[in-house]
Amino acid sequence: MRILLVEDEPEMVAALRSALARNDLLVDHAADLAQAMAMAVDEVHDAVVLDRQLPDGDGLSLIAKLRARGNAVPVLVLTARGDLADRVAGLDHGADDYLGKPFALEELLARLRALLRRPAQLQSEVVRVGRLAFDFGHREISVGGAPLALRRRELLVMEALLRRTGRMVLRPVLMEAVFGVDDEIQSNALDTHVSRLRRKLAESAAGVTIQGIRGVGYLLRETP
Ligand code: CA
Repeated sequence: MRILLVEDEPEMVAALRSALARNDLLVDHAADLAQAMAMAVDEVHDAVVLDRQLPDGDGLSLIAKLRARGNAVPVLVLTARGDLADRVAGLDHGADDYLGKPFALEELLARLRALLRRPAQLQSEVVRVGRLAFDFGHREISVGGAPLALRRRELLVMEALLRRTGRMVLRPVLMEAVFGVDDEIQSNALDTHVSRLRRKLAESAAGVTIQGIRGVGYLLRETP
């Protein structure tokens, strides 16, 4: 099993490295977001241990970039900011688990083991909402068993929303998931894709609704 450790504090890196190695886990270490992204593209990891306060930004932004590339690697977020708002932010950004510093190494290892048990299931995970089914492994979407024809970016919007069904997905998270970081985009491009999706979902009687809060984000839920 190979872990990507994204952490900038040398003492923490040393402690985590040895704890992970003792548990027969291979460790790739990145000290900032840029390095982490390069490593995630080059190598397949079984899990990511991710610090939030990194020299070049908030660790959470890495998660959206990974998901945008179809990388569903489980992510355990570490942070000194351990209050409820930060915890919710972490999970809303697609983190699989969250651990506040300081923490016991044993707890980290236990949570990591739980995450490492998940990937195989995740590959073939099919999420169903209403009459809609999304196969994350094959990235196929269907309504009542019939394939639903979506454009690539529409599919990315659906994927990002379905990962967090019933929860608000913030605009910046959707933008990164759908457009990538470097694309030049119009600010209303996301809303255009959502409008088209809403029409297609209604036409196919998918039984799901995309709700929006202007300027904040979108949320997918079963049509009541
Ligand atoms: Ca840090």
